Amino acid sequence: MKSGKQRRQELRAARLRRAEKNRQALLDCLPLSFTPSSQLAVRPGLLASYNSYGQPLFVARGWYQDQPFCCRDCGRDEIWTAAQQQWWYETVQGSVYASAIRCRPCRLERRQADGRAPK
Ligand SMILES: [Zn+2]
Repeated sequence: MKSGKQRRQELRAARLRRAEKNRQALLDCLPLSFTPSSQLAVRPGLLASYNSYGQPLFVARGWYQDQPFCCRDCGRDEIWTAAQQQWWYETVQGSVYASAIRCRPCRLERRQADGRAPK
């Protein structure tokens, strides 16, 4: 019979193998349009800490890329740019699981409505 320590080592090795496999699968399905010079690299050391066995998608991928979204309030199509993401995640340490859901005018309106910004 195996000891608890052996079993834990096996589990850890299996977990690392799975993580590597997932990372590889992610890299395999990347868009071909990726060009390192026009994208921003993720610097994991600057991110807010997160408690999870997995990684957020952009961390696993290794760079920020422009992300289209539809504003929740007005329905306008917007782009959350790579630079804006880097600012949110690295400069102001925003949650790594948060992403843009409202356009700039709608965000300002909300801040004014609940008193976080002067009218
Ligand atoms: Zn909006």
